[in-house]
Amino acid sequence: KTFGELGVREELVKACDRLGWKNPSKIQAEAIPHALEGKDVIGLAQTGSGKTGAFALPILQALLQYVLDSEPKKGRRPDPAFFACVLSPTRELAIQIAEQFEALGADISLRCAVLVGGIDRMQQTIALAKRPHVIVATPGRLWDHMTDTKGFSLKTLKYLVLDEADRLLNEDFEKSLTQILEEIPRDRKTYLFSATMTKKVRKLQRACLRNPVKIEA
Ligand code: AMP
Repeated sequence: KTFGELGVREELVKACDRLGWKNPSKIQAEAIPHALEGKDVIGLAQTGSGKTGAFALPILQALLQYVLDSEPKKGRRPDPAFFACVLSPTRELAIQIAEQFEALGADISLRCAVLVGGIDRMQQTIALAKRPHVIVATPGRLWDHMTDTKGFSLKTLKYLVLDEADRLLNEDFEKSLTQILEEIPRDRKTYLFSATMTKKVRKLQRACLRNPVKIEA
């Protein structure tokens, strides 16, 4: 099947074409139709499987749909800030995820911010002031901003992605992850991706996802 046949909108199919993504990868072909239907998704997949596209495309499509469905006020459509948040265990992975979001969202004026440790916080505070649609973050630094950055909250969040969930559950992140999960809306969609299904991942899945569809790459 093509991306279009999976239900992906024209604007985003074009972006896939531009990236040289001719056909969906296995995880994309299986995850995208469920995600577009509004299901929570658990994907067992490694890096290299195309898992980023599997969650980025449905999120971008939902963002686009949200804007198109809203009533214009004074001739302008709303521009939803903090629509989606992707949690990643490493800075490098977060940057790669943000690059894919930006490439796929180029035609729809997507704003994406990266909040990771080891990088100047002030710069990230400035990025948050621009009201990004998507945030890609490591849990520690995201929690720092949630507690310290004035005017920043995730109360409008519609989508949460737990990427490499098995690695997100290390000791360094466990506390901030729990705190973040307590602060974000329960009424949201959640996608969890993990290379392995451990006891801890299963516990996180039960705490965070609602009637998820489970797929394997
Ligand atoms: P990921 O597993 O999400 O880290 O993706 C690994 C690499 O595969 C990235 O460089 C993507 O740009 C690329 N990729 C993702 N989806 C596709 C696709 N459908 N066709 C070709 N390349 C892809």
